[in-house]
Amino acid sequence: MSKPMNIALIAHDRKKEEMVNFVIAYETVFEHHNLYATGTTGTRIMENTKLSVHRFMSGPLGGDQQIGALVATNEMDFIIFLRDPLMAQPHEPDIIALLRLCDVQGIPVATNIATAEILVKALDRGDFAWRELKDKYKPGVDG
Ligand code: PGA
Repeated sequence: MSKPMNIALIAHDRKKEEMVNFVIAYETVFEHHNLYATGTTGTRIMENTKLSVHRFMSGPLGGDQQIGALVATNEMDFIIFLRDPLMAQPHEPDIIALLRLCDVQGIPVATNIATAEILVKALDRGDFAWRELKDKYKPGVDG
């Protein structure tokens, strides 16, 4: 089994139930990893599973930016971000910024349940072992 990965879970309000059901379905995979979440998403996951989740601020209050900070320093390995594509979000700039940082660092990020499922199965198979090399490639101030 590969080392525990740092996984961030974020779900917009109308996607929270889907996220909770997803985490319940893959609880035996997630229990081997370090879980992080925006505030309300994390609370809902902890209320419905035995998992422990490090909670940041709620998304609209800066939680996406806190997770983004860990992406910028290459400390987050994998993000599931169930966005609501049918509802405008007050923190849209923060959402775009987080996704941009994932692209900067080449961090796998699933924005819908179908991709999330494929990535979690890959995680369970050990396909994320390449992330164990991350400490060798920590970005400096100049990138
Ligand atoms: P929340 O944040 O988990 O605190 O609701 C997610 C979001 O809406 O961005």
